[in-house]
Amino acid sequence: MAERKTFFVDVILPVPINQLFTYRVPFELNDQLKYGVRAIVPFGKSKLHSAIILKIHENAPKEYIAKYVEHILDEQPIIQRYQEYFWTWISDYYMAPIGDVMNAALPTNLKLASETKIQLHPDFDMQTAELSDKEYLIIEALQIQDILNLSEISQIVQIKTIHPILKKLYEKQYIISVEDVKNKYSPKTAVYIRTCALFHDKENLNIVLGELEAKKNSVNQLEALLIYIKEVEKNGDFILRKTLEENGAKASALSSLEKKNILESEKIELSRLTDSDGSIGNFKALSASQQTALDSIRENFKVKPVNLLFGVTGSGKTEVYVELIKEQLDQGKQVLFLLPEIALTTQLIQRLQAYFGDLVGVYHSKFNQNERVEIWNAVLQNDASKYRIVLGARSAIFLPFANLGLIIVDEEHETSFKQYDPSPRYNARDLAIVLGHILKINVLLGSATPSFESYFNAKNGKYGYSELKERFGNVQLPEIFCADMKKEFISKTLNGHFSKFLLEHIENTINSGKQVILFQNRRGYTPYWICELCNWIPNCKNCDVTLTYHKQSNTLKCHYCSYATAPMGSCANCGSNKLSMMGFGTEKIEDDLSFLFPNIKISRMDMDSVKGKKSYEQILHDFETKMVHVLIGTQMISKGLDFDNVGLVGILDSDMLLKRTDFRAVEKAYQLMSQVAGRAGRKRERGNVVIQTSNPDNWVIQKVIAHDYEGFFKSEIIERKNYFYPPFYKIIDISLKHKDIDILNVGAQTLADNLKEVFKERVLGPEFPVIPRIQNYFIKQIRLKIEREAPEKKVKERLNEILSKFRSVPHYKSIRLSVDVDPA
Ligand code: ADP
Ligand code: ZN
Ligand code: ZN
Repeated sequence: MAERKTFFVDVILPVPINQLFTYRVPFELNDQLKYGVRAIVPFGKSKLHSAIILKIHENAPKEYIAKYVEHILDEQPIIQRYQEYFWTWISDYYMAPIGDVMNAALPTNLKLASETKIQLHPDFDMQTAELSDKEYLIIEALQIQDILNLSEISQIVQIKTIHPILKKLYEKQYIISVEDVKNKYSPKTAVYIRTCALFHDKENLNIVLGELEAKKNSVNQLEALLIYIKEVEKNGDFILRKTLEENGAKASALSSLEKKNILESEKIELSRLTDSDGSIGNFKALSASQQTALDSIRENFKVKPVNLLFGVTGSGKTEVYVELIKEQLDQGKQVLFLLPEIALTTQLIQRLQAYFGDLVGVYHSKFNQNERVEIWNAVLQNDASKYRIVLGARSAIFLPFANLGLIIVDEEHETSFKQYDPSPRYNARDLAIVLGHILKINVLLGSATPSFESYFNAKNGKYGYSELKERFGNVQLPEIFCADMKKEFISKTLNGHFSKFLLEHIENTINSGKQVILFQNRRGYTPYWICELCNWIPNCKNCDVTLTYHKQSNTLKCHYCSYATAPMGSCANCGSNKLSMMGFGTEKIEDDLSFLFPNIKISRMDMDSVKGKKSYEQILHDFETKMVHVLIGTQMISKGLDFDNVGLVGILDSDMLLKRTDFRAVEKAYQLMSQVAGRAGRKRERGNVVIQTSNPDNWVIQKVIAHDYEGFFKSEIIERKNYFYPPFYKIIDISLKHKDIDILNVGAQTLADNLKEVFKERVLGPEFPVIPRIQNYFIKQIRLKIEREAPEKKVKERLNEILSKFRSVPHYKSIRLSVDVDPA
C-alpha cells in the first residue's frame, strides 16, 4: 500500500483576493492530485468553490489551519502551464486580483460555485436521456423546481459533493446555467411551416380558404392561414412557426391545419450562425497588392514578432489573413483570430467558414456555455478535427491553446477589445502581444485606421509594418462631401435634422437602385426634453445625465442605469407645458425619414432594435438581400460589414463626434468617420459619403475627406506628446465611488495627496468625471501619467502600497476603488 503522505495544494479561487490559498488533501485523494485540475474546496461560510490546483507540496500553512479539499473534479488539467504565468502577468500589470483573472478566463460552466443556478437544458428529453441514479435525483428535482442553485440541490438530493455529477450532466447537455438561458441560449432547432404540396398551387389554396371561410368554427384556422400567406409574400414560403405565432396565429389553429394536411411543419437544425455545410470552399487568388502585403508580412515576421497591416477599407485584408491561416493549419498549428464584437461580424464568420468549414470555432459570450466549454476542451486537447481556428471576442485570449501558431487581431484599433468592468480591465489586443511573446509566436494586427499606439510602434520599428493601400478590384475609396448645416440653416433649406444636400443624395442613390447607410451614434428618439420657459431638463434620478426619449416604448430612459419613466406633460420646475425635444437619435431619424420618403423600406440597427423582434442577423440579411433601402444605425454598423450595393453613407451629426473632450476623442472621431465611410461603394463603383457638419473646415473632417490617416496622425501625435498622453506616457486611472459625496471628496483628496508624495506632478485630480453620479454613486477620478520608460514593476508596487494603505483606513473602507491601467 502506498505511503500515507499528507499533501497540501495551493489553489487559485475565483474570488477577488490577490493570493493563492492552501488546502489540505485527504489521503483518499492523493492519487488524483495533478497540476491544473479543479478541486472543490470550502470557502467562506459553507460555500463551495471550484479552484485550480497550481502547486502540490507538503508544507502546512503557517498562518492558518488548512481546510480540506472536498473533491477533485478533473482527471486532466483544464489549463496549460503557460497560462499560470500569463494570468499572473495580467494580474500584476492590470493590478487585478488573480481570482478576477481566473474568473474572466474560465467559462462559467468550469467554475461552478454554490450560487450557480441551473435548470434543465431546453432540449432535454426524458425519453431518450440516460441517467445514473444520482443524476436522476437531480433531474427530478429540477423538473419539480425549475431553477435551483447548487447548495439547494445538494440538500435535496442529500449528497454533499454534487459537482462531479453536475459536470457529467453538463457534458451530456442535460442541464444548463440559468444565466445562459436568460440571454445567451439559442435553440439548435426551430420549427418551420409551409403548405403541403397540394396547396403550392394557388387555386387549390384559394379553395381551402373559401372552405374555411364558409365554416363558422374555423375562424382561427382561416386567420392563421392568412397570416401564413402574408408572411410568405415577405419572407419566402418556409416560415418560422414562432413568427406566425408572434403575428397572431393561434398555436392550436396551426396544429389543426397540420392535421388537415394543409400545412406541414419541419424541425430544422439551425447551425449556430450560418448554414455552413462543413465543406471547404474555393480560395480566392490574391491580387498583386495583396500578394505584396502577404510577402511583406512573412518577411517582417522573420525578424519582428508583431506586425501591423494597414489596409484601407475594402482592400481585402481578410484574404491575406486567410493565406496566413492556411499556412498555420498546414503545419498543424492552431490560430486565434480576435475580433471586436463577434455579433457584428457574422459576415466574416461566414466567409471563414466557407473556407475552413468545421475547423472554425466561434467563441463569444453570446453563445451558450456548453459550447464554450466544448471549444475550451477542443483547443486544450489539440483536437485535430475541429476548432483549429477560433474566432473570438476579447475573452478568447484566455483559451488554453495547446499548439497556437498565430494570433490575428482584426480592427485592432477598436475599443471593445478593452474590458471596462469587471476587473481585470484588460485590453485583448495588448494581451495578444504578451501571449505571442510568451509562446514565441507571431501576432498580426490589422486595421484601416490603426490605433495611435500601434501605428507609433510600427513607425518606430518596434513592430513590422505592411500596407494595403488600394481597394480590391481597384475600386476607388469613396468620395466624401460635407453638407454645411450652418449655411443651410441660414438659407432655410434644412428639413428637420436633414440637409437638403443629404436628402438629394439619398433620393438619387435610391433612384439609381443603390442602398443607403445613415449613421447616428445615439440611440432612442431624442436625447433630451427641455422646458422652453425655464430650460429645465428631465434628468435620471440615479445618475447625473439627461433622460433619452424612446418613442416606440413612449418612455424616458436612462442609458446608464435601468431607470425609465413615463414622459411628463409639464415642467417639474415651473409647470409650463411647453416642453420641446432637443437633439435626435436613430429612432427619430427612422421616423422622420419614413415621413419624407413614404415609399422606401427603412430599417434600424442599434442596441434597442437588435434586442427586439428582429435579430442582428435578420437586419443584416434584409439589407444584404436588398429588401431594405436605407439602414440607419449607431456604431454597430461601422465595423467590418461588407455590402456590395451601398451607394451612399450619411453621417448625420459629426459635430457631436468632435465635441468629446478626452484625449482620444479626435482619434476616435477620425476612426469612426473613416470606418463608416468605408462601408460605401466597396465593389465595382465608387461610393459617396455625406458628412453633415456646421464646420466643414474642421481639420479632422478635412483629413477624413482626404483619406489622409498619415497626415492626421502626424499632427495629432504632436498634441499627444505636448500634453503627456499615450503613446508617450502611460495612463493609470483610479476611480473612487461613494453614495456620500462628503466621504468621497475627503477620501479622494487624501488619496491624491498620498499619491503626490511619491508620484509628484504625475498625479492629476481628483476630479468629477463628465458624468459625476451613476446609479446613485458619486464618482471622482485621479489620473496618473507615467513616462513610458519608467520601471513598470516598481511604479505598480509603489502604487499598490499606497492603495492598500488607503484601503486599510476604516473611514475609507466603504469607498469603492477601482484601477484602470491603460484606459481606452
Ligand atoms: P477589408 O476587410 O480590408 O475591408 P474585405 O476583406 O472585406 O476588405 O474585402 C473587400 C471585398 O473584396 C470582399 O467582398 C472580398 O470578398 C473581396 N475580395 C478581396 N480580395 C479578393 C480577391 N483576392 N479575390 C476576389 N475578391 C476579393
Ligand atoms: Zn420650466
Ligand atoms: Zn440612471
